[in-house]
Amino acid sequence: MLVNLSDVLTSADKTENYKAELEMQTYHCRLGDFPIVRKKPVSLKATNIGSGKAELDVQTQVVLMMSCDRCLKDVEYTFDISFSIEVLAPSIETEEPNEDNFMEGYQLNVESLISRELLMNWPMKVLCKTDCKGICKVCGKDLNTGECECDAFVPDPRMAVIKDIFNANNKEV
Ligand SMILES: [Zn+2]
Ligand SMILES: [Zn+2]
Repeated sequence: MLVNLSDVLTSADKTENYKAELEMQTYHCRLGDFPIVRKKPVSLKATNIGSGKAELDVQTQVVLMMSCDRCLKDVEYTFDISFSIEVLAPSIETEEPNEDNFMEGYQLNVESLISRELLMNWPMKVLCKTDCKGICKVCGKDLNTGECECDAFVPDPRMAVIKDIFNANNKEV
């Protein structure tokens, strides 16, 4: 959805509040495609802070369907988004090239702005529960539902020592 900010960008001391609906149903990014389970309307407060400049206060909540890093079960992950950002009218010359792609002239592309913010808030780890035991790498059993037979084989550290001595003796021969 596009929100026209030309009034706020061009009128001194002007403040406007907007509610914008996110149109995307799935969040596409370099990490994959994640269905959006729930989303709140994006609330935007835009305040003029100088000629061609506005500050945006942005708030929303987006819930994505992700999968547990350990057991791959579906996990609903909630992004509580709240941030402020400065936006510029296209007429303003900036020293640094502006790499943000969410302004299209005087219009704010809400989809692009929120997409960028989701990526910036991406969790390091997604777990179905903090103590998720994951799945067995050998048989694929979900270890949250119980132990599997594969765990029975744990190399005995004492055996490793004997093996080292054996190898050392062999070298002397
Ligand atoms: Zn899990
Ligand atoms: Zn197993």
